[in-house]
Amino acid sequence: MSQINRIFPRWAASWGTLARSNAQVRSQCRMCGIQQRVDASVQALRFGAAASPVDQLDGCTIVGCHGRVYFLAARSYGRTWLTLLSSEDLRETLAGAAQPANAVSLDLVRTKSPGVSDAG
Ligand SMILES: [Zn+2]
Repeated sequence: MSQINRIFPRWAASWGTLARSNAQVRSQCRMCGIQQRVDASVQALRFGAAASPVDQLDGCTIVGCHGRVYFLAARSYGRTWLTLLSSEDLRETLAGAAQPANAVSLDLVRTKSPGVSDAG
């Protein structure tokens, strides 16, 4: 077990701070790769406002998948997504994880202009 501790910004410190900020949150499944939007206020109700999303795994909700999801957050729309994993053990599992998949990457929806992803 590595002792490296990554520092995450204060707005991403807990489900409560994520809910109070305008942060965007998504989950990504390690097994199927599906990305889903996550409502931080719902997560705050589920896990407690003080609970940290960092290194938290949850069950994938995609029918037929029994994988585990981890969480990503962006300070606001269009900003860089931070992978909310701190432990080296968990980060290393991403090397063998499925590629990210969403409605745009799976070509399930039409984008407004070619090459522009509006997956948020
Ligand atoms: Zn899955």
